[in-house]
Amino acid sequence: MRVEAVRGMPDILPEETPLWQYVEAEVREAFAIYGYREIRTPIVERAELFSRGVGEATDIVHKEMYVFPDKKGQLLALRPEATASVVRAYIEHGLHARGGVAKLYYLGPMFRYEKPQKGRKRQFHQYGVEAIGSLDPALDAEVIDLAWYIMERLGLRREGLFLRLNSIGCPEDRPRYREALREHFVPHRERLCPDCQRRLEENPLRILDCKVPTCQEIARDAPRSVDYLCEGCRAHFRELLGYLDALGLAYEMDPKLVRGLDYYTRTVFELASRDLGAQDALLGGGRYDGLVEALGGPPTPGVGFAGGLERLILVLGVREPPDKCFRLIHGPDVYLLPVGEGEKIEALRILAQLRRAGIPSDMDYAGRSLRKRLQAAARSGARCALFLGEEELSRGEVKARDLASGEEEYVPVGELVDYLKRRG
Ligand code: AMP
Repeated sequence: MRVEAVRGMPDILPEETPLWQYVEAEVREAFAIYGYREIRTPIVERAELFSRGVGEATDIVHKEMYVFPDKKGQLLALRPEATASVVRAYIEHGLHARGGVAKLYYLGPMFRYEKPQKGRKRQFHQYGVEAIGSLDPALDAEVIDLAWYIMERLGLRREGLFLRLNSIGCPEDRPRYREALREHFVPHRERLCPDCQRRLEENPLRILDCKVPTCQEIARDAPRSVDYLCEGCRAHFRELLGYLDALGLAYEMDPKLVRGLDYYTRTVFELASRDLGAQDALLGGGRYDGLVEALGGPPTPGVGFAGGLERLILVLGVREPPDKCFRLIHGPDVYLLPVGEGEKIEALRILAQLRRAGIPSDMDYAGRSLRKRLQAAARSGARCALFLGEEELSRGEVKARDLASGEEEYVPVGELVDYLKRRG
């Protein structure tokens, strides 16, 4: 019986990987230009990291997390996101003691048991940044600017994108806002979906990002978090808007944007594409000023975002892959054709030599006839075929054929590298 891949966990095939590698390289370079350094945390963490960090009542933890006991019964989870892991590592390795702002980035697979659809998978890949150690709204602006810069580098037009922005205030503002939301939703309790009826008790903010149409309709004229901000949060948001204006970065205020993770405070944002339909968020982020403390570190503010590589690939996929992609595909430049079995050892030796000299080269291992192999060489896009015949080899030479012009010449084995490099 055939064993198939797990639903929602797709393979990324060789014809797709050049685009992935290109996007990953662009994202890494953008992060480095903005002063972020990579951190690599494990894919498996203790489950409680996410229930404490992301929040027990969130869909991500409550419904979507892959949780399993290890052989000693310790409850582990496949990471559903990386902010909690990065903050755990930040605390565990005392990165706060180094002073200044820790600017960290990551790239890698995440796991959520969601209903698979276009742009929504169970294994997906996120790129993201975390800037930990400053309350300055200029840092929020920098992080948002970085998000835009990534899109620019990838050649996505600004008009095709938009930034949703909101401030959800601090823990001091939250009880008043939560109460106002509860008052708004309680009269509609019966019409809310079963999940939102639970959310009404646990955390009514979560109702705002429910996707069920009736819940969305009831949420339409719900109280707005920006009307419940304390003076400090209001000033912080005002300053951020000033910086965004100064940077020429447009935004749309979205009072319903609360984001699906409990750790957010103050600024929350999403950069969305007008070309993507229902799952339009390319990336999302915001401030999490209480998270470091909640995970056992000293009170330390932070801000960051995470984006989905699958969605970026989707929006880029509608266009021609950029030329830069093709730098990452190494078809062979040179194709070796040992004429008989006897020449195979010499062919392997030459192949190893050419490759060590940085010349992409290959030969056929499928045991095909010389004619078939020559056809394969032409199809491979190689510029040059090297025939290794008994007679030539006994003279220490091979016959090189230019596959475009058909011209042939004999080249001493010892001079092959120079010869091929000279041909460029
Ligand atoms: P979140 O961690 O939920 O804030 O998501 C941040 C970004 O990750 C989203 O804007 C998407 O681009 C991407 N993303 C989240 N969940 C998925 C998923 N299941 N499949 C693909 N991309 C996802």
